[in-house]
Amino acid sequence: MNAEILCIGTELLLGNVVNTNAAWLSQQLARLGINVFHHTVVGDNSQRLEEALQIAFDRADLVITTGGLGPTYDDLSKETVSNYFNRQLVLHQPSLEKIHEFFAKRPYSMVPNNEKQAYQPEGAVVFTNHSGTAPGAAIEQDGKVAIMLPGPPREMKLMFEREVLPYLQKFSDHVIVSRDLQLFGIGESLTEALLKDLMTSSVNPTLAPYAKEGEVNLRITASAATQAEGYAMMEPLMEKINKLVGQYIYGIDVPDLQTALVTYLLEHHITVSAAESCTGGLVSKSITDIPGCSDIYPGGVCSYSNEMKMKWLHVSPATLQIHGAVSEETALEMAQGIRQATGSDLGVSTTGVAGPDGGTAEKPVGLVYVAVAGENYQHVEKLNISYGELTTRSMIRQRATKHALYQLLQAAKRLKR
Ligand code: ATP
Ligand code: MG
Repeated sequence: MNAEILCIGTELLLGNVVNTNAAWLSQQLARLGINVFHHTVVGDNSQRLEEALQIAFDRADLVITTGGLGPTYDDLSKETVSNYFNRQLVLHQPSLEKIHEFFAKRPYSMVPNNEKQAYQPEGAVVFTNHSGTAPGAAIEQDGKVAIMLPGPPREMKLMFEREVLPYLQKFSDHVIVSRDLQLFGIGESLTEALLKDLMTSSVNPTLAPYAKEGEVNLRITASAATQAEGYAMMEPLMEKINKLVGQYIYGIDVPDLQTALVTYLLEHHITVSAAESCTGGLVSKSITDIPGCSDIYPGGVCSYSNEMKMKWLHVSPATLQIHGAVSEETALEMAQGIRQATGSDLGVSTTGVAGPDGGTAEKPVGLVYVAVAGENYQHVEKLNISYGELTTRSMIRQRATKHALYQLLQAAKRLKR
């Protein structure tokens, strides 16, 4: 099966909205083994939409549209697609009830136009909208499939994940399963170099790297008759990967470093606190972004000046005078200080030169110390995380934050109870 993604909306053509729907849908379809050969964008105009549909179905079996399902006059997707398949729009009672329910819970009332959204192409499969009012729909006819999804990315994604994925499964006699291995502390090119042979020789399952800011993600994808079989097929490949880069893998099927850290801390009842200088609160933010963090994160401080490092964290004046604020010694005292102040199991600290100014030959922009302190444990890392002119202040702060989260995770694993 091959697919075309057809995004509808004049705002996309005007450049007011970036077409993130197409990118996201392509990624999803790739995971299902469905080839996407074209992305098309067309405005809110029924004639041009009709043409675009015609072209799309001349070259694809599956066309997924987004946008134009709303209640207003310029929302014409359903009408135009129904027309294309010579179907009538008929009232879909369950959709009407859902729309009534949606408005019953909200302070604003329904307008007659909202009822329009409950009309669906005759014989269509209707997809529930879990975060808005416009349902989606699929029409199958003569070996062609049209799937219509709402424009707002949040609504579109939820509908795809909960409704469309199970629906698409029937077009495939195999299931696609994948595992994401998350790596930190190794660059993308080194990862590729180490895994090159495995990547080229693996056909099913496949192995592909994806770089994220400061991290590498390895995705293993298998196609099999059942999920269990798919996961079992991955085992030998996972073992080989482990041998080559296992030391850098911090999590499997976790979305990111901060989630991996907080999940681990919660599971093992380990509390942490952060004393931040150059990251200015980003470590705190990253941890507190994750729901449930209050059980493992009592708090932290942003101690930007020397005065606050002394007052809040009891960093000694002598340390600051002899070694400076950006030093191994200060970082360690900050981590110990925050740990004592909060009573947390682990304290983490960051201190460095985020730039663009303030760098010296001895302490250049990008020099950052990250320290972790626990009972009978301390570790400090010296980082040089400016990779040249294109490195911004924000990138240095983000990278330093990731190192701090990673150091905490490593220390927590050592402490594991
Ligand atoms: P609504 O009920 O909100 O009118 P709709 O299904 O009619 O939903 P549109 O009116 O086409 O969708 O788009 C609504 C909003 O969704 C757009 O203003 C835009 O912010 C966002 N949007 C639409 N299409 C895309 C896209 N392809 N990529 C990213 N965002 C999009
Ligand atoms: Mg609309």
